[in-house]
Amino acid sequence: MAVKRERCAWLKGPQFPCEDKPPAQQRPYRLVLLGAPGVGKGTQAEFLIERLGPCHLSTGDIFRAAKALPESERTPAIEEALGFMKRGDLVPDGTVVALVRERVECLNCEGGFLLDGFPRTVAQAEALEGMLKTQKVKLDAVLNYEMPIEKVVDRIGGRRTCSKCKAVFHVTNMPPKKAGVCDHCGAELFQREDDRPESVRVRMQAYAKSTAPLTDYYGNKGVLISIIAEGSPEEIFQRTMKLLNARTGKS
Ligand code: AMP
Repeated sequence: MAVKRERCAWLKGPQFPCEDKPPAQQRPYRLVLLGAPGVGKGTQAEFLIERLGPCHLSTGDIFRAAKALPESERTPAIEEALGFMKRGDLVPDGTVVALVRERVECLNCEGGFLLDGFPRTVAQAEALEGMLKTQKVKLDAVLNYEMPIEKVVDRIGGRRTCSKCKAVFHVTNMPPKKAGVCDHCGAELFQREDDRPESVRVRMQAYAKSTAPLTDYYGNKGVLISIIAEGSPEEIFQRTMKLLNARTGKS
């Protein structure tokens, strides 16, 4: 099971420094995860964090953390962003880029980073490139998980998330030991609002239109690694490590 870090600086902003930073890595991995919703990126993120130690920088988690705040503590920009999220739409680039820019020092984390859910558009990728330059760091690889669309839709419908530790299960592919209860912390599992069928359709359209072009963007930069996301989570992870080691020479 992946190490759960509090990720204060990422989730709440730079005025809340992390108390449990990932340990400094001799050769920190700096990775981006790509793949349609439901392709199993979350599970692969857990494996990668456990094995390679980077900090998990998920923009979706920033929005979910903001959603958990009382309404009086949410800024108007966050409130507006949550409206897009609820409908399954992408939050506008300006808002997301501003949130990541505020947290730019997380890109310099000594443990490395695993960006998950960002960038999602070419404009965001360009903004990220600028931020990486200011932090004087480079991406090791962009991991792109691929799966036929019908399988993706089926997987999202069965996905359940822990209300407390955010671990992800699937009612048939990766069921918890006890139905509806998290194996890790015992809290209740729920279906995310944006995993419901009406939101899923919008998310898939947003992915095809805005995020799929990122594979060309990163392919042209020579950092893209495409991985077939079929088989067990362990098999997919082994496939990932083989391709990643071949590309980076790290082991
Ligand atoms: P995720 O957990 O990455 O699937 O994100 C959940 C939701 O947050 C998405 O469906 C979007 O509404 C919003 N979101 C997260 N990251 C981004 C991003 N980089 N650009 C636009 N919207 C985002």
